[in-house]
Amino acid sequence: MLAFDNQQYQCCTLCPRECHCNRLAGANGFCAESGQCRVAHIGAHFGEEPCISGQNGSGTIFFSGCSCGCFFCQNHQISQGHLGELLSPEELLERSRNLARRGVHNLNFVTPEHFWPHIRFLCQSLRQEGYELPFLWNSSGFSKVEMLAEQSRYIDIFLPDYKFADPELAQRCMGRPDYPEIALSALRLLVDRKGFLRPFDSSGEITASCGVMVRHLVLPGQVQDTLTVLNLLHREFGSDLPLSLMRQFTPMPECHARKFLDRKVSTAEYALAADEAMRLGFRRLFLQDDDDGSFLPDFRLRQQPFAGNREHGQQPDGPQISGNT
Ligand code: SF4
Ligand code: SF4
Repeated sequence: MLAFDNQQYQCCTLCPRECHCNRLAGANGFCAESGQCRVAHIGAHFGEEPCISGQNGSGTIFFSGCSCGCFFCQNHQISQGHLGELLSPEELLERSRNLARRGVHNLNFVTPEHFWPHIRFLCQSLRQEGYELPFLWNSSGFSKVEMLAEQSRYIDIFLPDYKFADPELAQRCMGRPDYPEIALSALRLLVDRKGFLRPFDSSGEITASCGVMVRHLVLPGQVQDTLTVLNLLHREFGSDLPLSLMRQFTPMPECHARKFLDRKVSTAEYALAADEAMRLGFRRLFLQDDDDGSFLPDFRLRQQPFAGNREHGQQPDGPQISGNT
């Protein structure tokens, strides 16, 4: 058995917030999670893009807390409400083994930055035990390049968001005007280290084994920022960059309280975004159908927070994301 190394929690600089707090003494940083790993849900998930979910599902591990802190968070029950159970490194390993044995196509670490020491232990242990399924980093894009340089030695697939291009919008949503710059540096490093997602099969018959795909969630009333994001990504990485353009935004109570982002994305807004992505020539593009909310989670339902997974069971007929390649 490998030794679990929790030193990085002692003076935490795991994410760009660089709180320098001792998480072994409590949950005293921005992410409000201690050095004990808290997990909200572990299970096969069918709501990812087909090349990630495949037929058997993606093996998701939803971590509680988040270092990004978007006020509109669709997972606010766990990112800000901290629902979840504390797991020791060994318990996390055992639960992950069980998930891997169910035949999921990957282990998908959702909102992982602030629990990297636990995840590193998990990846090292599973590889040592002979598990070969890809490890997937499903993150906000708000990451330090130094950390990603280390993480890219263990992780096979990266699904970073590129959330905002406008510093003012980033400031308003998650309190950091430097998000666009930080997320772009992170993305450059990842593409350099890992290349683009491959194999890329939009039907989901063959699932991806390594590389990078970027996700962008269109926000209501902010389609101009989406157009800027698309042009920026195209300029930086070209039209081969795998891209998932999402429209599933649902206003959370905090959106109504702030009277900002307090509605869904309109059909016309999403069409504008999709048209621009296609005009730019993105060839590996996932577009999303009108959302029925089946993958909007309720993490109070610990065993299965996603109605879409309950409906799909173990024999899914695919999520509501459609590839155009
Ligand atoms: S992971 Fe949490 S405690 Fe550590 S630097 Fe980031 S926000 Fe702060
Ligand atoms: S990065 Fe994702 S999980 Fe974190 S607060 Fe923002 S929307 Fe929520």
